[in-house]
Amino acid sequence: MNIPDNKYLGSLCKRGHDYEGTGKSLRYASGECFKCQHERQVEYFHKPQNKKHQQEYNREYRQRPESKERHREYVQKPEVVERQREYQREWRRKPENKEYHRKYSRKYYHKPEVKERQRERMLEYTRNSIGKLTDYYVRGLIMQSSPLTREDITQGLIDSYRICIIADRAVRAADVALKQHKEKVS
Ligand SMILES: [Zn+2]
Repeated sequence: MNIPDNKYLGSLCKRGHDYEGTGKSLRYASGECFKCQHERQVEYFHKPQNKKHQQEYNREYRQRPESKERHREYVQKPEVVERQREYQREWRRKPENKEYHRKYSRKYYHKPEVKERQRERMLEYTRNSIGKLTDYYVRGLIMQSSPLTREDITQGLIDSYRICIIADRAVRAADVALKQHKEKVS
């Protein structure tokens, strides 16, 4: 039998944790039963107040600049991005989520502050990104909006799609500018 390091077989504990049929409990050098300690830990984290404490701690942890930085780096990894996208696609494909997604996004995107933010972001984006339509980025867009896989997407398709994007952005930017002009005038 294998007795882990720093532990020994002692008398059977109050909870009767029999280690591999020996009739004895596996104990730490301190004398505490290994299984009891583990169970107490699990019980601790299942109590509502401790759960809450843990959640608060996690939240606080995520707010730290170094955590945010690490998270940002992590989510930008291509394999993580791809996995996340696949997950979202999968989620939206399920009938029960389709309805939810539609309802939620309708409500969300109708909030004035969200609309405004969206518009700002798009304008900013249009201004900044015409020169940044890399093959990688354009391929990603094609994959998002079509069932094509990476292998299906040729250089020619990427080049054509890039032109469409530029045209589309120009039209949208003009549209937004016109709307803003009208708002100012009225
Ligand atoms: Zn025990």
